[in-house]
Amino acid sequence: MSAQKSIILVTVDCLRADHVGFMGYKRPTTPFLDALAAESFVFPAAIVAGAPTYYSFPAILASRYPLALGRDVLGVAPAEPTLASVLKHAGYAAASFGAANPYISSRFGYENGFDVFRDFLHAEPEPLSNDNVTVATGDGWASRLNRSLQKLNSSLGPLSLVYDELYFQYCQRVTPPAASLDALRRFPSADVLVSEACKWLESIGDAPFFLWLHLMDPHSPYYPKEEALTLMGHDAVSPFRARYLNSYWNRSDLGPRRLARHREEVIALYDAGVRWVDVQVSRLIETLRASGRWDNSVFAFTADHGEEFLEHGGRYHPPSQLMEELIHVPLLLRVPGNEKKGVTQAPFSLIHLAPTLLDAAGLAAPAPFEGESYWPQVRQGTGYNAVAISECVAGCTNPFRPQNRLGPRVLSVRESRFKLMLQFDPPVERLYDLESDPGEQAPLAPGAQKPVRRRLLEIAREHLRRSREQRDPRTRLQARLREFQLEWKKPADKASPVAS
Ligand SMILES: [Zn+2]
Repeated sequence: MSAQKSIILVTVDCLRADHVGFMGYKRPTTPFLDALAAESFVFPAAIVAGAPTYYSFPAILASRYPLALGRDVLGVAPAEPTLASVLKHAGYAAASFGAANPYISSRFGYENGFDVFRDFLHAEPEPLSNDNVTVATGDGWASRLNRSLQKLNSSLGPLSLVYDELYFQYCQRVTPPAASLDALRRFPSADVLVSEACKWLESIGDAPFFLWLHLMDPHSPYYPKEEALTLMGHDAVSPFRARYLNSYWNRSDLGPRRLARHREEVIALYDAGVRWVDVQVSRLIETLRASGRWDNSVFAFTADHGEEFLEHGGRYHPPSQLMEELIHVPLLLRVPGNEKKGVTQAPFSLIHLAPTLLDAAGLAAPAPFEGESYWPQVRQGTGYNAVAISECVAGCTNPFRPQNRLGPRVLSVRESRFKLMLQFDPPVERLYDLESDPGEQAPLAPGAQKPVRRRLLEIAREHLRRSREQRDPRTRLQARLREFQLEWKKPADKASPVAS
């Protein structure tokens, strides 16, 4: 058995911190991981460096802020070092199994350093979309009647609920029936990826390895495995009902109050997705235990961003506001031979994850990594005083179109207690006290906490200055060239603007 520690990184799309048991969630989404948490470091405030997927992963894999190469650059640049390329260089076998998320495909440079890179994308990747069978676009009588009714809808008052039901029943019935939730699911479920990963692990013998799994089970549209619903204590949900709920949740013509009617049912579907991840991570770790490799492996479990369930009126995870439900994710780190210690409440930005993982495995991080290792502090259980910066481009829900990437930046600077949110166009500055207002329901008055505001603003300014001045023009150029080549190769622009 090799002395070098292997590294396993499991990232779960859309998994918010407060929906896992080891972060205090009351429903049984993660019993296996909760037990594992007893021998792991659990970070109370892991914060992503950007949201959604395409603004988060440059930090997770390449320890680089998502907009550091310019707003128009997406993904990892061709020669940019990543966790995978560093480990490859150190002699590791490296594989990635990702559940068909087009934003972390080879198109955006994520295959760098991997021997095996399976993204489960079969055709030309297209932007992700949510379920919507509600748009009657035809010219038939039903569509015309429906459009008139929709106009009337807002003035119908209590009758509008009746209209919702009738219309949706109608829409659902005109779409072809689905045999099962499995038939409706858009992404390979965690069992498929874990099976592939286990096969690969078997094939590499005793070599130290890096395994990255990206699981999409909690991602919308929410079609969980039926076994997971049962494990969560729910009755079976028919495919008809599940599609109805997903379509309802995706309606753009309803406000939060109306959407809230089905919020709990939608959350139950999402939670079952999380439970399936837990079941399959358990299976992966059993396999590693059985082959004697588990106790020589660093294991990290986290997410690329959270998910909104109307806390601030929104759904899914569009880049708009960097509220806690979107940027606060779980992070569990198990390093064999190290006793569990409490981790400080200070935010831990995922920009530091890659260098911390390398350090825990006894390897140095490459110079271009922007984050630094917190392994010494975590291992010893000492505090650190960190600030987490998150950024995204407002309204960029379809990054396949380069012109969509050039919207105004949104930036948040989060300390343990205070969080400053900055929007650049129109300029908005909001300061939250997360101690007295953890749900970020009311920003502090403009005159309140002036020294805090000044301090966080200064950090934001410094971040923007570094982002501009330390930009490596060669890395940027290489990333831009890759994009041009892809554009030239493409026969036609198939991308359509949809929520991601
Ligand atoms: Zn994502």
